[in-house]
Amino acid sequence: TFDYAPALESRSIVDIKASYGLFVDGEFVDGSGTSFKTINPATEEVLAEVAEATEADVDAAVRAARRAHTRVWSRMPGKERAKYLYRIARIIQERSRELAVLETIDNGKPIKESRDVDIPVVAAHFFYYAGWADKLEYALPGNGHSGTRSLGVAAQVIPWNFPLLMLAWKIAPALACGNTVVLKPAETTPLTALLFAEICQQADLPPGVVNIVTGAGATGQALVGHPDVDKVAFTGSTEVGKAIARAVAGTDKRVTLELGGKAANIVFDDAPLDQAVEGIVDGIFFNQGHVCCAGSRLLVQESIADELLTKLKRRMSTLRVGDPLDKNTDVGAINSAEQLARIRELSDIGEAEGAGRWSPECELPTTGFWFPPTLFTGVTQAHRIARDEVFGPVLSVLTFRTPSEAIEKANNTPYGLSAGVWTDKGSRILHMAGALRAGVVWANTFNKFDPTSPFGGFKESGYGREGGRHGLEAYLKGGE
Ligand code: NAD
Repeated sequence: TFDYAPALESRSIVDIKASYGLFVDGEFVDGSGTSFKTINPATEEVLAEVAEATEADVDAAVRAARRAHTRVWSRMPGKERAKYLYRIARIIQERSRELAVLETIDNGKPIKESRDVDIPVVAAHFFYYAGWADKLEYALPGNGHSGTRSLGVAAQVIPWNFPLLMLAWKIAPALACGNTVVLKPAETTPLTALLFAEICQQADLPPGVVNIVTGAGATGQALVGHPDVDKVAFTGSTEVGKAIARAVAGTDKRVTLELGGKAANIVFDDAPLDQAVEGIVDGIFFNQGHVCCAGSRLLVQESIADELLTKLKRRMSTLRVGDPLDKNTDVGAINSAEQLARIRELSDIGEAEGAGRWSPECELPTTGFWFPPTLFTGVTQAHRIARDEVFGPVLSVLTFRTPSEAIEKANNTPYGLSAGVWTDKGSRILHMAGALRAGVVWANTFNKFDPTSPFGGFKESGYGREGGRHGLEAYLKGGE
């Protein structure tokens, strides 16, 4: 079949307003404080002014969520709540092109990723958790009603790398279980969360069930610290996650934390190498490496290291870096100037510490924030790029001789979110999956996500699980 669609997705299909307020109690309202700008990282164009929610705004949102929980949402039979979740899922599908374009413009990720991965998986989450909503109840004695074990009001704070997907991971299970939410998107990517608010209106979701407060770290701090919040769900850096854990210590708030990672992608000498190369490239260059479970450390068995690196460099040379709205683009823009500075700094340190730096030749646009796909060879555990989360398109290559050396190196990190194993031997996959201290271990594949699978970390990658049946426990009384 031929694709007659134009190569460039149209910016004009999204209606971006000049300024946005907060979404509280089913309405868009002005914030009581200042505002901030959100920009397109591929062009540095200012997209909109967005309200910076103050403590008073956060308080109003939490109150609205409490009222909605007490009066409406926790009393509604699960099969009715399910109808709203199905309706939201269907509207997401209907408006998927608009959502994909807006996500790409605000975040910088290639349109083929937002179109083929982010938005379909977002809809899948709402469909999946809609199916759970009427299966979580127990009959209340005597009066013929059923009740939920919902916790109450959930404060949800999310990062910028998968703005709408992280929102779906948080909002869909919370609502299915009968909780109401106040969600704070990241300050560089607030627009799709605000479009989602519009979708909640379109779905006639009762006011106050979903509230969106925009702002930076201080808004997040006010939200998770609010005394009337029952549950805190955070996805972001380990540093902020630890600060949140300290802030809620001593309260009765339930907490789940999804934090950073430094995944090892381990390639054995019997691996299907061409397939492994695709998995390595996807593992680190998907979403510009702004992925908590990115395969940022390649551990390759010494005997095949040269052959694998030759193939990998050849494949990296074919990656198209550039306009995220171009349907052929493989690697888009870095999300912000701050993130670009961090990637540059860690890469320069890698070079100064003696690792070999290589990037394919590619012409980067002159405006916007860009970094070429990069790999470092000769990396050892002593190098910062082997230990710190770069959160960019930078791969560190280490070698090993034996499986036990691979396990030792893979586990030698404070993180424990994910890992990949490439081998032809089934018994080795089972052995590695048991030995690796990682919440997810992919075998002969990487970066596969599904609403039915629980996701979460060991060690400093956080605690609690999102996704699947396990993801419900975090939002139910008597759960984890
Ligand atoms: P970040 O921690 O800087 O910010 C995350 C969110 O927290 C933002 O909305 C931010 O405004 C808010 N925030 C900042 N300070 C806060 C405070 N003191 N109290 C409450 N909220 C506060 O992280 P980021 O740079 O947006 O995202 C990148 C990080 O997220 C990476 O470390 C990545 O690995 C991690 N991440 C983890 C997962 C996972 O599932 N484990 C998924 C995606 C991203």
